Amino acid sequence: MTLNELATSIHDCRRCRLANSRTQVVFGTGNPHAAIMFVGEAPGYYEDQQGVPFVGAAGKLLTELLESVGLSRSAIYIANVIKCRPPNNRDPLPDEVETCKPYLFEQIRLIGPKLVCSMGNFATQTLLEKKVGITKVHGRVFRLEKFVLFPLFHPAAALHQNALLDPLREDFRKLKRVLQELAPPSSPEASQDQLAPSSATTQLDLF
Ligand code: SF4
Repeated sequence: MTLNELATSIHDCRRCRLANSRTQVVFGTGNPHAAIMFVGEAPGYYEDQQGVPFVGAAGKLLTELLESVGLSRSAIYIANVIKCRPPNNRDPLPDEVETCKPYLFEQIRLIGPKLVCSMGNFATQTLLEKKVGITKVHGRVFRLEKFVLFPLFHPAAALHQNALLDPLREDFRKLKRVLQELAPPSSPEASQDQLAPSSATTQLDLF
């Protein structure tokens, strides 16, 4: 199955109650062969309206943070654990996460990223398969079987609690170092088709 086929197969999913409150399924967006993936919690109002993750204020902040480390949105892939907007942006319920997360795991398998940045508690706990708080694990590197996990505060949380903004910016600076460590030494044969960062961070697209 391709990523497009997976997206088509779930566009009318009704496996949980969130099918009743959504406008549309928000599958994900970006480079289907990305080396870096960002995973958030669930669509909000604007995402639900437009069918694209991270397009509201939190999305604007994420774009700014990505650019600060030389990454463009088109170079990475962005998705959420939950594909449909919960009513009034409430937290997803455990059974909704359980029902929807196989789609995320399948997305990750099909994209095959080297690095996944989980944003917030829900994405981090889902990918670590552990009940850990983001306050404890943000900015740390977890080498999982198939990819490296790098948890971050959720940009929406940083917009609501100003005190999280500086740690989030600092974690992005750490992320830049992680990317440089993961990148193999530069060589003429190295593939450059996965990311398209600025020339100042060319090394980032080589792993
Ligand atoms: S949240 Fe996930 S499982 Fe629930 S209806 Fe939407 S796509 Fe299906």
